[in-house]
Amino acid sequence: MRGPPARPGLRRSRTRSARCRRRPGPARRTARPPARRQLREFLAGHPGIGPAEPAGPAKEPRPDPWPRINPTDLAEVRAVRTTVRTVLEEAATDPAGTAVLINDGLRRSRATLALRNDHDRWWTEAVSDTDRCSAHLAATTLSALASVIAALGPARLGMCAGQACRGTFVDLSRNGSKQFCTRTCAHRASVAAYRSRGGRRRASPAPSSATADPPHDRR
Ligand SMILES: [Zn+2]
Repeated sequence: MRGPPARPGLRRSRTRSARCRRRPGPARRTARPPARRQLREFLAGHPGIGPAEPAGPAKEPRPDPWPRINPTDLAEVRAVRTTVRTVLEEAATDPAGTAVLINDGLRRSRATLALRNDHDRWWTEAVSDTDRCSAHLAATTLSALASVIAALGPARLGMCAGQACRGTFVDLSRNGSKQFCTRTCAHRASVAAYRSRGGRRRASPAPSSATADPPHDRR
């Protein structure tokens, strides 16, 4: 999970007249900070993250399990994000330490297995035995990463090889050769490598006609 983008210029961009026009009192007090709003939107977009439901036929849409996000929720979710990132960064080089981290996170989130049903499809997934959204996020993400490690090995979790990219990935490819988080990063690295080779060719002295290689053989 990436963190919410910083918006340092948001307040400074408001003019004095805009501040004067802004409605005072309750409207300002109830304004939800962007990070909390983003977390609300993330949870709303991932309805599978939440308390276990009784298995059965398709039912009415369940009520929102987290109608309000407070600063404590936000701090707890950020801590989970840090744990997940550490797992992704260190699994390949420190699998034993990563296993301790995952197991500790699952234990603290009180993860438990639940049987789900939706439109005649059944599956199991980890949910938290608490009412904390951070614990449900931890149970879902850490159990999923644990499943990848158990099925494919710890080397399938990694960091993007792109320059200046902090992206991470889970490599589900057949041969396990993934290096970049997205095609964009892979393409950018490919273009940079191509330009680097071209730059070296332009910087080297031109070979004499007697020893010159055909263009396609040049390194
Ligand atoms: Zn990347």
